Amino acid sequence: MIHELPKLPYSADALTTAISAQTIDFHYGKHHQAYVNNLNNLIVGTPYENATLETIIKEAEGGIFNNGAQVWNHTFYFEAFSPNPQASPAGRLLRLIESDFGTLTEFKDKFNKAALSLFGSGWVWLSLNNQGHLEISQESNAGNPLRKGLKPLLTCDVWEHAYYLDYQNRRADYLPKFWEVVDWKVIADRLG
Ligand code: MN
Repeated sequence: MIHELPKLPYSADALTTAISAQTIDFHYGKHHQAYVNNLNNLIVGTPYENATLETIIKEAEGGIFNNGAQVWNHTFYFEAFSPNPQASPAGRLLRLIESDFGTLTEFKDKFNKAALSLFGSGWVWLSLNNQGHLEISQESNAGNPLRKGLKPLLTCDVWEHAYYLDYQNRRADYLPKFWEVVDWKVIADRLG
């Protein structure tokens, strides 16, 4: 099976209040594409040649895991954005956030703290656990909560390549801009 770089649901210059076209060109056009290419090269002749990305994330190790998870993680990250986002959660998603974190603001604060305190490269996640509660988790490198049986809902890429062209070393400046383009409609659809 040949993995492909999915088309973005917006143009490269659609999110410029938060993420520049140059960052999209490099992050999506170069980094994401490279993970797709690496994965396609690595799986040839292995048990993962016809595996889905989800199976690769749950079962593979080493380069196949790293590149497969990075393909999935980046698609999940980019597809959460919109130039006209639903700016806040509603319905069941909002009720879950309020019961597990207090308020939307308290949730964002906790998520941002997890993003700021993640040392090195990785991802911060909001997931639904088996008890029906929301969890924030930090994952290093290509880590993905599917591997722990969680249902991912939202992720923030805190690898420097996600923000360095726009915010240089200032991860704390990237995070509020990230929230400006997150489309809560997408997150609610993932919750189902
Ligand atoms: Mn990235």
